[in-house]
Amino acid sequence: MKKLPLKVPNFIVLTFTPILALLFVPWYGFTVGFDGFELAVFAFYMVATGLAITAGYHRLWSHRAYEAHWSVRLWHAVWGACAMQNSILHWCADHRQHHRFVDDNDRDPYSAPRGFWHSHMGWIIRKQNIYTDDFANVKDLQRDPIVIWQNKYYIPLTVATNVGVPLALGWWHGALWGTLLLAGLLRLVLNHHFTFFINSLAHMWGRQTYTDINTARDNGLIAILTYGEGYHNYHHLFQWDYRNGVRWWQFDPTKWVIRLCAWLGLATQLRRPPAHQIEKARVSMQLKRALAHLEHAPEPDAWRTRLEEAHRQFLVALDEFSRFRQELVLAKEKLQQQLDRDRQEMKKRYAELRTELARRRQAWRQLLAELSGLELARA
Ligand SMILES: [Zn+2]
Ligand SMILES: [Zn+2]
Repeated sequence: MKKLPLKVPNFIVLTFTPILALLFVPWYGFTVGFDGFELAVFAFYMVATGLAITAGYHRLWSHRAYEAHWSVRLWHAVWGACAMQNSILHWCADHRQHHRFVDDNDRDPYSAPRGFWHSHMGWIIRKQNIYTDDFANVKDLQRDPIVIWQNKYYIPLTVATNVGVPLALGWWHGALWGTLLLAGLLRLVLNHHFTFFINSLAHMWGRQTYTDINTARDNGLIAILTYGEGYHNYHHLFQWDYRNGVRWWQFDPTKWVIRLCAWLGLATQLRRPPAHQIEKARVSMQLKRALAHLEHAPEPDAWRTRLEEAHRQFLVALDEFSRFRQELVLAKEKLQQQLDRDRQEMKKRYAELRTELARRRQAWRQLLAELSGLELARA
């Protein structure tokens, strides 16, 4: 395939920032050293930019997995610009294209079958034939004024958060370069490559737990580096789930942060598929893998029959159970509504009876008063 021309600004950023980080961070560390303040700013920058990409760019804007208050959107828009992975509009247009045409070398912008280098960063530093700059697949996002604002002021936001704020903090702290090197430079390089791993490594290395119709893999190690995005096989099958790690033991801090926002009233409409759909996908892949290993079994045909029959019965039970659970939920809701209506009616009747009683009591007292008035007059 003929090589396409370089995108020079991207090439410069993605080539020189790692070289500068490799040279200057250890050099400064050994000669001057980093203190607690510089490490704390670095940690904050890592988490803020990392979550802006995962909870903001990815799950909120690309997949609309939940709705977020404007303050959350503004926060992710600012720190997302700091991550220097392009504006929300560009990022989401590419990402939606990736999901729609995953592994299609002519239409997936970071198609993994084109190799590690291309899916990791090659697609960013060379011009591509795959065109998403018309934003045709992100029309919904263009209604969000924060998204439009971030697209318009992307460069100033990037410079301010990557250089301006670290320099200002460093100056205030009394050592100009340490904060810039850690929070500006090293953080930028780490955040870039951790994110890129999702497009490269998470399409090559790991388990196909839920589907094998694409190259996406579940990888717990990548999940640690990417705030939970390593469960990429699950994500490609249930892309609008606000979670990527769905098992209780899976490390998915992005999901916890979204839940925390929901608890604070800053996120609503958290979307997730019914549990039985997830289990069905997982069990079907287990059957596929078991059948593929049958040639090593002593009686493959007998085993095949047993496996297929047990799998069929399992799915029947799963369907029946989930249907009944759905019915139970509906019945509970109906009962609750009936109960609410009955309670309402009884409250109304109680109020009516009490008014009537008060009226009768008043009338009785009036009558007695009238009688005693008569008796007084006669005496
Ligand atoms: Zn992917
Ligand atoms: Zn995605």
